[in-house]
Amino acid sequence: MSDPYAWIEQSLATIHRADWYRSVQTIEGCPGATVLLQGQEVINFASNDYLGLAGDERLILAATAAVQEFGTGSTGSRLLSGHRKIHRELEKAIASLKQTEDAVVFSSGYLANLGAITALVGKRDLVLADQYNHSSLKNGAILSGAKIVEYPHCDIEAVKSELQRLRPDYRRCLIATDSVFSMDGDLCPLPALIDLAQEFSCMLLVDEAHATGVLGKTGAGCVEHFGCTGKQLVQIGTLSKALGSLGGYVAGSATLIDYLRNRAPSWIYTTALSPADTAAALAAINIIQQEPQRRTQLWKNVDYLKKLIHQYLPNLKLLPSESPILCLQFASATDALQAGNQLKSAGIFAPAIRPPTVPTSRIRISLMATHEQTHINKLIEQLSLIFH
Ligand SMILES: *Cc1c(COP(=O)(O)O)cnc(C)c1O
Repeated sequence: MSDPYAWIEQSLATIHRADWYRSVQTIEGCPGATVLLQGQEVINFASNDYLGLAGDERLILAATAAVQEFGTGSTGSRLLSGHRKIHRELEKAIASLKQTEDAVVFSSGYLANLGAITALVGKRDLVLADQYNHSSLKNGAILSGAKIVEYPHCDIEAVKSELQRLRPDYRRCLIATDSVFSMDGDLCPLPALIDLAQEFSCMLLVDEAHATGVLGKTGAGCVEHFGCTGKQLVQIGTLSKALGSLGGYVAGSATLIDYLRNRAPSWIYTTALSPADTAAALAAINIIQQEPQRRTQLWKNVDYLKKLIHQYLPNLKLLPSESPILCLQFASATDALQAGNQLKSAGIFAPAIRPPTVPTSRIRISLMATHEQTHINKLIEQLSLIFH
C-alpha cells in the first residue's frame, strides 16, 4: 500500500523548486518603525500598523486594564455567555467612525468576510468579485455556494457587461471588492461600483481593511475618501491593521447588522473577542478620531517616498498606488527574493511578495506615521545600491 501522506512532501518539493516556499521570521520586542527581526535591528516597511498604534502606551494600558477587570478570555460566544459591555461600546464606536447605523465585531477580519458573505448570498445568487480580492473575500464567496464571477481588476466596464449578461438569472447579487487592494495599494472604483449596484439592484461589499484609519478626512476609510458616506453598503474591516489590535467588523444598516447577528455562522459559533483586544481597539478608535495629525504624517511620508523614488530610481517599476502600500515590480520571484534579502542584510525589512499571493513578484513597502525621514532616506539609498 502506498503512503497516503507521501504527496505532501512531493508538493512541498514543488513549492521549493518554484521559489514559492515561505516560512516565518521572528520579531522581538514591541512593534514599531524599527524592530528586531531574528535578532537584527531593521527599519520596518512590512507592517500594517499604519499609525504606529500597536505599540502605543494608551492601547497597552487599555488592554492591561481590561485583562485586570474582565480576565483573559471571553469564555463563550456572544449569544451564549461571552458578551460584555465593552463589545457593544466598541461596536458603537465603529458605527460612529463609519457613520453607519450599527456595526458588529468578529474575531478577525477574515471571519467577518466569511460570515457576511455566507449570510448574504447562497446557491441561487451571484457574486461578482474583483480578481485581486483578498483571500477572505474569495473563500467567503466559495463557502456561500453562490455562482462566482471574477472580473478583471477594477474593470468597471466588465462589471457592467457581466451584470447585463447574468443579473436576470439570479435572485440576489453581491458585488465584493477590497477598497485598498492589499498587495497593490490601489483603490477600487467605488463611486462607479455604487452606481452599478444601484442600477442592477445588487448589494455592494467593500473591505476597508487597509483603509480604515488611513483614508478619508476622519479616517473612516475609502468610503469617506470618495465622498460616499451614508450610502447603503456592507462595509467590512479589521481591528488588526491601523487599529493595532485584533478582530474584524461589519458596519452598515441596523437591519443588516441585526440579520448578521442571527445568520453569520462565523460570529454565532465562535468565542467573543477577548477583553484585551476589544479594549485596545476601542482606545485606537478614540485616538484616530482625536489625533488626525497621525494620518497627516503618514501621508507626508507616502508623498516623500514617492518623490524620492521618482527622483532617484526613475527606472524602477512602481505599481500605481493611492495608499501607504507601494510596490516595486520584479521580473521573477527569484529576483524579488534576492532584492528582499539584500535589503534585509542592509537593515531594511521590505519583503518580497510572490505568486501565488500575487500574479507578479514584487517588493512591498508599507509606510507608517512613525517612520522618520532618515528611515525613508536609508530605504532609497539601499534600493539605489541594488539598482545602480
Ligand atoms: C488583512 C485583511 C483581511 C483580514 O483581516 P484580519 O483581521 O487580519 O483577519 C481581510 N481583508 C483584507 C483586504 C485584508 O487586507
